[in-house]
Amino acid sequence: PTAAGTGAPYGEPFTDEEVTAIRGDFPILTRTVRDGRPLVYLDSGATSQKPWVVLAAEQEFYERHNSAVHRGAHQLSEEGTGLYEAAREIIAGLVGAPAHEVVFTKNATESLNLVAYAFSNAGAGGGGATGAAADRFRIGPGDEVLVTQMEHHANLVPWQELCRRTGATLRWVPVTADGLLDLTTLDELLTERTKVFAFTHVSNVLGTVNPVRELADRAHAVGALVVLDACQSAPHLAIDVAELDVDLLAFSGHKLFGPLGIGVLWGRAELLDAMPVFLTGGSMIETVTMEGSTYAPVPQKFEAGVPAAAQAIGLAAAVQYLTELGLDRVAAHERRLTQALLDGLAQRPWVRVVGPAGAEERGATVAFVVEAGGESVHAHDVGQVLDDAGIAVRVGHHCAWPLHRALGVTATTRATFAAYNTLDEVQVLLDALDRVPATFG
Ligand code: PLP
Repeated sequence: PTAAGTGAPYGEPFTDEEVTAIRGDFPILTRTVRDGRPLVYLDSGATSQKPWVVLAAEQEFYERHNSAVHRGAHQLSEEGTGLYEAAREIIAGLVGAPAHEVVFTKNATESLNLVAYAFSNAGAGGGGATGAAADRFRIGPGDEVLVTQMEHHANLVPWQELCRRTGATLRWVPVTADGLLDLTTLDELLTERTKVFAFTHVSNVLGTVNPVRELADRAHAVGALVVLDACQSAPHLAIDVAELDVDLLAFSGHKLFGPLGIGVLWGRAELLDAMPVFLTGGSMIETVTMEGSTYAPVPQKFEAGVPAAAQAIGLAAAVQYLTELGLDRVAAHERRLTQALLDGLAQRPWVRVVGPAGAEERGATVAFVVEAGGESVHAHDVGQVLDDAGIAVRVGHHCAWPLHRALGVTATTRATFAAYNTLDEVQVLLDALDRVPATFG
């Protein structure tokens, strides 16, 4: 078997002893909540917990090397800069890219805004754009931006704003009733008018793993750029940007065992060169006079201000930790948990799962609606019952409101897994869910 959508082989799932050892790496998992109940953390899709190695890497930076990297003429800044650039190299390795193609941002949301903004600024002869590829970022009336109906708002609203600013038209690939992209629409939607096709690798609600390479090939055939939202895939599946053949890719560190406040934008070097600057100010310039400025080469031209070095270094420690666990084994472990939850929910006819039927086609995400007495119980009420049992899930529209409308539901309850979750926790969730119909029926 291969890890869904990547072609990478699945490894062996972790043994019970290995999962116990992994849990020991995450200090927060020893705490109790709600009057002494063990924490059952099933919200890693929103943000993952952090292992000691990440906390220690951040602390060591502040204790020993704290400085404004890329600025000072002193030893601390030299050390900090070295660690920051080494972090870039390690993180680039996670997606099979060279370090100079990795830009540090605040999170995936900022990465995606940066890309969308490049399109609107390119038309204005935006600063810092060099090379022949600059034309690919010029957009205006008559041009189209293609997204999908299953996007997180972070990969939708920036494109809506781009279209509003430039007069381009936003189009989207609809989702089928079973939570897949309706690819029968692609011939009509992907045309020579399409400048960019931006879509998610794995849906944060449905868990659907989209056929990235196929979609990228189709987009490239009409000359469109491909932007991949890898927020829900990078922490769970091995990614190689060359194999996927996408042009730009975004993910957040905090979903990948890394610190809050650090995100990644990867782009092909010739495209990053061709993109105009986004945030401007210190650190991203080459020369500045009162009349105007020239900009540093990539990736610095996109990293204005004193960078979040401790967070980048923490993220590099997270990437090393995840790589040592083995993404093939992480994927296999999470698939086992996902399948166990899907099997358990299938035995409860009052639960309606959204998205693909089997764990084979899914990331580590299961969202569902609970029905009692013929009516759906509001996800916030479900979340309350689960929280009382010490179980952390997410409820609501998960920043994918249009998708929920398309599915005909206002809100869902979502459980998401990481390497530290156990089959016992799946059972705790199922047992707690069994109390919901009686409570609200
Ligand atoms: N895209 C997807 C698929 C996500 O799940 C998320 C996080 O919820 C994001 C984008 C945005 O990530 P962040 O809020 O860290 O920028």
